[in-house]
Amino acid sequence: MSDIYLKLVNTPMGKATAQTLGLPSPVPLKRRKRADQPFIEGNVLVGAGNGGKAIATIGSVLSASAATLYHASGKATLEDSSKAGNKAQTLDLASGTDTKFSALVFDATGLKTPGDLRALYDFFHPTIKNLGANARVVIIGQNPATCRKAPQAAAQQALEGFMRSVGKEIGKKGATANLLWIAPNAEKQLESSLRFFLSARSAYVSGQFVRIGKTTSAPTTNPVAPLAGKVALVTGASRGIGASIAETLARDGATVIGLDIEPAMDDLENVMRAIKGKAFACDITSQDAPAKIADYIGKHFSGVDLVIHNAGITRDKTLGNMPEHFWDMTIAVNLTAEETINDELMSRELLHQDGRIVCISSISGIAGNFGQTNYSAAKSGVIGYVEAMAKQVKNGITINAVAPGFIETRMTAAMPLTLREAGRRMNSLSQGGQPVDVAETIAWYCSPASSGVNGNVVRVCGQSLIGR
Ligand code: NAD
Repeated sequence: MSDIYLKLVNTPMGKATAQTLGLPSPVPLKRRKRADQPFIEGNVLVGAGNGGKAIATIGSVLSASAATLYHASGKATLEDSSKAGNKAQTLDLASGTDTKFSALVFDATGLKTPGDLRALYDFFHPTIKNLGANARVVIIGQNPATCRKAPQAAAQQALEGFMRSVGKEIGKKGATANLLWIAPNAEKQLESSLRFFLSARSAYVSGQFVRIGKTTSAPTTNPVAPLAGKVALVTGASRGIGASIAETLARDGATVIGLDIEPAMDDLENVMRAIKGKAFACDITSQDAPAKIADYIGKHFSGVDLVIHNAGITRDKTLGNMPEHFWDMTIAVNLTAEETINDELMSRELLHQDGRIVCISSISGIAGNFGQTNYSAAKSGVIGYVEAMAKQVKNGITINAVAPGFIETRMTAAMPLTLREAGRRMNSLSQGGQPVDVAETIAWYCSPASSGVNGNVVRVCGQSLIGR
């Protein structure tokens, strides 16, 4: 469904009216358009607090981009990041700057005490107003859970509050802020996440942190077809977010098995035909579904690399009025099926080495929602499941979740008008997301280069005001 307000407010008259009335003026988000689109263009300013450990990796990732690089200097709290080795210009922040930036990237891994947080102020204060529309702020820190000393943990945890507030300040420009928390010596695992969060692919992801662990492998991939040779299973692929996930994974080179219920077969076959995928009819709540899915994968392929548990339903009623089958169906589709399918695929060794499992939670599972005790319980359960499984998976397999906010689909088009408008506007970007925003986040998790990204829950919600 199209967002008429977003279109209106971006006409000259609409803009003036919205300003006069103090109404939100969302900026249209720029999403990825072409396969060969550079992940970031324009002027990118890089800075590092003293002792930053990620600056060399940041420098080498950005050197491969189409951006013009600047290094920040001129403040005692900032390390001269041009030591990273690329030949960028140095910008003396002590004398201020008029340069417009498409991204600000800050290495905060060296911050050891609350006093060191001054480096954030020194870097962002003179530059934040110079961010252009659809710009990016990415902060790299050390995961506080890996800090041995309390002052260091405090400084690193402070990055979360800082990043979330920055996201709220810059959202009106269609700009995003996110935080990458790396484990000690995990700098080499940064690349795929840095590329994703700087790119147009993360247009609707803001106010999020990602924990990145150290792994033995961080393969470099073909940026145009990073999933070439991979087989993906996508449940609920006939429409909405699932269809977009299937299309995006196929775009990135994967062969997709799209699964949906029998009545959705016509739609599913249309989606699969367009991406040369396979359509498979199955109700994931039927008792024999895990075995049927495993048999199908075993018969047509040697196994599967990417398993995307997208199928979901809502059956809303206040708890006292909720019939028991509403409860049972919602838990079965949104939660139990994910577990039983994964168990079957893993016990039959059909999930390949370096496999990726992605589950779909929801901001309803984080914040709760009126009339959705069943759905919120299921989507919250997904988070618990992913976090527990992340500690158990082996052979380079990762498991992560996305938690969409308000995404423009048939599910949200069916909401009453006032609730729908509130859902669209109550986030830092003042607009709803598109199915492709969820799909792009899943494609980033699925990349072979995202081997250090495990056990995360990233919200795709434009930094919704609801929930954490
Ligand atoms: P949708 O209703 O458009 O699509 C869901 C798909 O799942 C449909 O194709 C449906 O046929 C399939 N499905 C349902 N039950 C099934 C079963 N038993 N077996 C196999 N397939 C089944 O929903 P959507 O908006 O595209 O949402 C996709 C996922 O994202 C869901 O998990 C949903 O809970 C989640 N989500 C959506 C939003 C949003 O704003 N749209 C927000 C948060 C979370």
